[in-house]
Amino acid sequence: LDLRTEDLKHVTELGSGNSGVVNKVLHMPTNTIMARKVIHVDANPAVRKQIVRELQILHDCNSPQIVSFYGAFMTGNDIFLCMEYMDLGSVDAVYKKNGPFPMSIIGKTCCAVLDGLIYLYDKHRIIHRDVKPSNILMHSAGLIKICDFGVSGVLINSMASTFVGTSNYMSPERIKGATYSVKSDVWSLGLTLMELAMGRFPFPEDSRPLSVFELMQFIVNEPSPTLPPGQFPAEFEELCNACLIKDPDLRPTPKLLREHSTFVQRAAAEKVDIQSWAATLKQ
Ligand code: ATP
Ligand code: MG
Repeated sequence: LDLRTEDLKHVTELGSGNSGVVNKVLHMPTNTIMARKVIHVDANPAVRKQIVRELQILHDCNSPQIVSFYGAFMTGNDIFLCMEYMDLGSVDAVYKKNGPFPMSIIGKTCCAVLDGLIYLYDKHRIIHRDVKPSNILMHSAGLIKICDFGVSGVLINSMASTFVGTSNYMSPERIKGATYSVKSDVWSLGLTLMELAMGRFPFPEDSRPLSVFELMQFIVNEPSPTLPPGQFPAEFEELCNACLIKDPDLRPTPKLLREHSTFVQRAAAEKVDIQSWAATLKQ
């Protein structure tokens, strides 16, 4: 599929983040609705070309837990990325409008993220790097998928200077600038699951707003957050605690969790009608 700007018709804006805007667009030649993300990159043409080249790996990332990719192209300083449109948007928008998720849906969300991470790492040696509620998307057909993983090293580098505010979910080792691995994504998943269960970002306890820098210090120096005792199943508490082990050497990999966490095992085996639950959501 050869995507061209002139074939895409703007429908609505879906949201915006640090890197740019995401629009719902119609690809007129194929009558396909897509989500188009704009990433503004201040880099020379050679670097931008390299980024578009690296993004082509996305064509090979095919998994039921990964948002599909239609193509990327460049216009001026903007890189456009066209992907599968997920009609319910990100899980952060869903819980902010509808309250905390039921455990059965958290279980399925957890399985989807773990399966997506395992696929990316096993098949492509890709570490996601940005697991958080806004990068987990839902579709009313009952699908849960991850998006916005770091495929292009050059893009990651050229965005590094503008990459603020995403640090809330960063693991302690990453904040410290140490080498990091897929286990860093497990930390981010732990915070994400707690957030979906509690209906808010899980720490710090007091509501005093922290600056980005204070929060980063907090993550590195303070004990990991824990769920309020007695409100959630013990296996879920156990899973969150395992994800939030501060020492990456002791923290499990996605694969270990998938194969050995009691919560994950049960969630994977459980039959959950995500579609019916989705039908009850306020949009
Ligand atoms: P950040 O910039 O900190 O990573 P973010 O993930 O919210 O934050 P974007 O990735 O630019 O920023 O996405 C903006 C919003 O667009 C998301 O929160 C999500 O609600 C929506 N969105 C992104 N991709 C899609 C998609 N494929 N289908 C539907 N909605 C999407
Ligand atoms: Mg995103």
